[in-house]
Amino acid sequence: MSTSANVSSDLLTFRGSSLEIKDLTMAFGDIHVLRGVSLSIAPGTTTCIIGPSGSGKSTLLRGINRLHEPSSGDVLLDGESTLNLNPDVLRSRIGMVFQHFNLFPDHTSLENVALALRSVKGMSKAEARERASRRLAEVGLAERADHRPRDLSGGQQQRVAIARALAMEPEVMLFDEATSALDPELVKGVLTLMAGLCERGMTMAVVTHEMGFARRVADQVVFMDEGEVVEVGTPADLFDNPQSERLQRFLSEVL
Ligand code: ADP
Ligand code: MG
Repeated sequence: MSTSANVSSDLLTFRGSSLEIKDLTMAFGDIHVLRGVSLSIAPGTTTCIIGPSGSGKSTLLRGINRLHEPSSGDVLLDGESTLNLNPDVLRSRIGMVFQHFNLFPDHTSLENVALALRSVKGMSKAEARERASRRLAEVGLAERADHRPRDLSGGQQQRVAIARALAMEPEVMLFDEATSALDPELVKGVLTLMAGLCERGMTMAVVTHEMGFARRVADQVVFMDEGEVVEVGTPADLFDNPQSERLQRFLSEVL
């Protein structure tokens, strides 16, 4: 049972918002890493983004919540431009989970989840701890509230990171290879937790190498290569009937 998410029965449903990416371009100096990416993600649906290393998947997610500033284009959240939103507000409405968890090493699980509730949401200490402990219970970690990251498995650390993002009550969740750094036996529990969020109505954009997850869970799959969206469609469209030579080659390497 240690690999299952062991989610408590007291579950929230989410009000996922739509996310619309409009002709987004991003560059590092002279290097154009995103060359005009457009995508529509309907409320409460999951889009999996696949593609070779270096194709711009992480850059796209980082542009969506402005960890890196886009050069041009726009991102609409629930129909409204996010360009003029305060970045802290934007990042509380669009949560992000990274490959390497990015937890604060000297804080407990509970503190990791509670910190932004205090600093960004302005909650009292008691309120923040109360909400944080509910979110930890939801990801099956009620008993680990007082543990520091080094005393948790990679899978547990990633579940703390997911609880931390969920505590902000985001409308969209972005996952950047959330299971790539985990030992193989810990991957399934995190994927099960992610699939559960999708069933409860979260809007999700998931960069992943887990093709089985993409096929099972995605409403829409996006194949990126060299900073562009090359194909978009259902899992059956992309996995069973790839149109481009680039996607055919990619699938022959990863499947
Ligand atoms: P992926 O996530 O699909 O592997 P990335 O979005 O990380 O791809 O990277 C896309 C391209 O942008 C790569 O060529 C990478 O070298 C480049 N890149 C990413 N981050 C930076 C950065 N901070 N500075 C310069 N180039 C970068
Ligand atoms: Mg990446």
